[in-house]
Amino acid sequence: MKAVVKYEKGKGNVALQEMPDPLCSDDKVILEVAHCGVCGTDLHVYSDTFRNFPPVILGHEFSGRIVEVGKNVKDVKPGETYSVLGATAVQCGHCQYCESGEFMFCKNRRGMGHGVNGAFTRFTCVRPDQLFAIPQDVSLEHAALVEPFSVAVHVVEEIADFKLGDIVLLSGPGPIGLLCMKMLAAHGLKVMVVGTAEDGMRLEMAKKYGAHSVWVAGKDDIQQAVEHETHGQGVALAIECAGAEASVVNCMNALMPLGQYVQVGHFGKDLTVPWDLVAFRQLKIHGSVGYTKQTWHRTMSILGQGAVDLSDVITHRLGLEDWQQAFELMWQKQAIKILLNP
Ligand SMILES: [Zn+2]
Ligand SMILES: [Zn+2]
Repeated sequence: MKAVVKYEKGKGNVALQEMPDPLCSDDKVILEVAHCGVCGTDLHVYSDTFRNFPPVILGHEFSGRIVEVGKNVKDVKPGETYSVLGATAVQCGHCQYCESGEFMFCKNRRGMGHGVNGAFTRFTCVRPDQLFAIPQDVSLEHAALVEPFSVAVHVVEEIADFKLGDIVLLSGPGPIGLLCMKMLAAHGLKVMVVGTAEDGMRLEMAKKYGAHSVWVAGKDDIQQAVEHETHGQGVALAIECAGAEASVVNCMNALMPLGQYVQVGHFGKDLTVPWDLVAFRQLKIHGSVGYTKQTWHRTMSILGQGAVDLSDVITHRLGLEDWQQAFELMWQKQAIKILLNP
């Protein structure tokens, strides 16, 4: 089968090449991939700025149809469709984090698409506990968005702390930031979204998703905008999704005393930021990474209820052979979610 493969360590070293079809062991199932989303992580694996174990097939945001079932697997039948939790492909299963459901922190964890073969290909082999049934009326395309959407659900439903009437600053309108935007809008919150001059298309989308206002860092005076929008109070919640130092500084300066800062973006370096504000304003600082299985169940019920519509999150649908074009669109910030259809 054709697959987008990181064939060797180092920058680049990704190609569409022939890989053997996976074999189904007694305890696993084989899915035929329906759609697989292109994620920032795939770009990081390409650039070798995210740990990876070549040769490995990229892609971890996917839905698919069961085509083969191992003989020890009960309750899964060929033809059924699922979203797949790729992050738990390898985990120890018995450390305190695996036991509490916080598998993200298992030292032995390896996810699909970088640690083990992913879904930028036709067939994948997974354990049945990685399968999440797709609610009725949810399409296979939307089911492929469950992974990135769960990242946003974890931020907004499980880490952030807010009440109706709060004003939120969301900095960084990438795919995860924009999915957070959709969640915050579903809660009826007033959200200010900050991006850079390169984010024009994504800031437009933020408006469509219900942002109260959008701002361009480096062009607009963000602190003045916050002063104006909050009547001098500051925002109650700032969510940093850009992974940029200037964005952290904006978020911290924007917060009101006792406000909450949530870190979602990654930097890959140390920062210089006004850290004294943490004490002076008694800020609550929280990180958010990935999700738990509970998050996935919650995401499924959000989609099942139609509480958030993901239709306008998918901006491009491309074939596997167009993976380079897809990566380029992401680098140029001209896409939100691109689905590759193998
Ligand atoms: Zn992802
Ligand atoms: Zn573990």
